[in-house]
Amino acid sequence: MAEQVLAGVPAAPGLATGAVEHWPTPLVADASSVGADDRPQALSAALAALQGAADEMAGLAEALESDREILEAGVLMAADPSLQASVRRLVLDTGLPAAAALLAAAEEQALRLDALDDELLAARASDVRSIGRRAARIAAGGGRPTGGGPRVIVAADLGPADVAELGAGLRAIALAGGGPTGHAAIVARSLGVPMVVGLGDAVLEVPEGAELVVDGDTGTAVRDPGAARLETAQAASMTRARDRQLAASRSGLPAITLDGARVTVLANAASALEVRGAIAAGADGLGLVRTELSFLEGTAWPSALDHQLLLEPILAPLGDRPATVRLLDFGGDKTPPFLRQADGRGIDLLLRHPLALDSQLSALVAAARGSEVRILIPMVVEAAQVRAVRQSAVRIAAGRGVPVPLIGAMIEVPGAVSMIDQLVREVDFLSIGTNDLTALQLGLDRSRPGPAPAHHPAVLRLVAATCAAARIAGIGVSVCGEAASDPVAMPLLLGLGVDTLSVGSSRVGQVREWVRAVDLAAARSIAAQALQLESAAAVEELTAPLRSVLLAS
Ligand code: PEP
Ligand code: MG
Repeated sequence: MAEQVLAGVPAAPGLATGAVEHWPTPLVADASSVGADDRPQALSAALAALQGAADEMAGLAEALESDREILEAGVLMAADPSLQASVRRLVLDTGLPAAAALLAAAEEQALRLDALDDELLAARASDVRSIGRRAARIAAGGGRPTGGGPRVIVAADLGPADVAELGAGLRAIALAGGGPTGHAAIVARSLGVPMVVGLGDAVLEVPEGAELVVDGDTGTAVRDPGAARLETAQAASMTRARDRQLAASRSGLPAITLDGARVTVLANAASALEVRGAIAAGADGLGLVRTELSFLEGTAWPSALDHQLLLEPILAPLGDRPATVRLLDFGGDKTPPFLRQADGRGIDLLLRHPLALDSQLSALVAAARGSEVRILIPMVVEAAQVRAVRQSAVRIAAGRGVPVPLIGAMIEVPGAVSMIDQLVREVDFLSIGTNDLTALQLGLDRSRPGPAPAHHPAVLRLVAATCAAARIAGIGVSVCGEAASDPVAMPLLLGLGVDTLSVGSSRVGQVREWVRAVDLAAARSIAAQALQLESAAAVEELTAPLRSVLLAS
């Protein structure tokens, strides 16, 4: 059969192949009505799928070394009589087909849990949604998933938590919808899983179990791949696995430049899975925990307990390594349903909701007792924003008789660089968010595909000014945007005075390798020249020899 190439948009790089596993979402579940005679059969299918989901989770729990209880709780939820009663009512009375009834019943239960006074139960809402999706997939796909073999997940859309949850055997993700800068894409990139979005409904029609090659560099997915393409994709998957092993075997080597400067390499993470991968590759800790990603479907501001439940599994594998936890950066493309009408973004929005800020700070201050936790403030522009956060943190820490964690500001709005002399007086450290900084400085829309060169001289000048102010104030500067793992930008950032790089979990080993290949004195001289150039293209030309050295390392 001839190959069929489906065109989409690249979201996470890499080439991979695997058997298709459909992951239904409410967008794709067939909600047409089932006739009265067929309803008992649809109900049996729904209840069998629920049991199948419970069996699957029990199997997964058994295979896990840690965090078993999360999956075991899912097994219990699948057997919950009220969930089963909802499924029964939705199929028999309303006529929903099995998959749609499972999703709707899980959503009903989740909303009920969301609304409860018992915070612990309310925090389980996302687990119920997850078991609903798993059962619906079984009902829609007509069978058990492909087990531990290489899988390509196909869905209409996925949330970042879904991506983190997909786990072992996941080779690639192909979405009918979604956006390349969406946060599901950030998590996929962090995990090193190739992903293509915007493939349209055609990808949803690829049968369960069929082989699909996903090319996250060109933004394509290929049905019925020919032997040569299949072989290339399999080889690419094996190379990625080997790179991971190599990173693990070299994780004990220090990240020191050729001329002896130590660079701290941290990881960006929103899930325990990413943290474990980062540590295996030698990460010195976490430079950015994107807390808001876990609450994008939220119906209210997260409580202190919600934050605690999010943080515990992320902090647990770290030992005494530091974790830089960002305060909720809601707004823009990270706006949960309950904030649709709200103004502001990042810290500006959070400061309008002081109780929500207190809830997160309480969880962070409590977590800082057992771990080295630092607080990072998103989208800062004014010194008063930092003072307000510090004031609340001091009050909460004093109430518990514990020290105040270190507090840092993200530099990701050009206005913050204009005010940098004032900001450095208020913070313990700075972290440059090159993703937003580049888009805002160059007037680009982050949510659209296309180049966003952080190595543009207009952006490098902001980085240089930030590093200069930090040096005078005697505080450290990290970069936690994607530029920290970009072979063009990374040596320039070090040359401009950045001392810490925080990168996606799957990039930690590679970036540590690059650090060992950089001559810092040469990087400083090239960075100084880059500041005087006129365009990103000119910087690319200037840095070509440096880049070749990195890519050969
Ligand atoms: C950034 O803007 O560079 C950043 C790290 O934050 P986010 O990508 O989460 O907006
Ligand atoms: Mg940002």
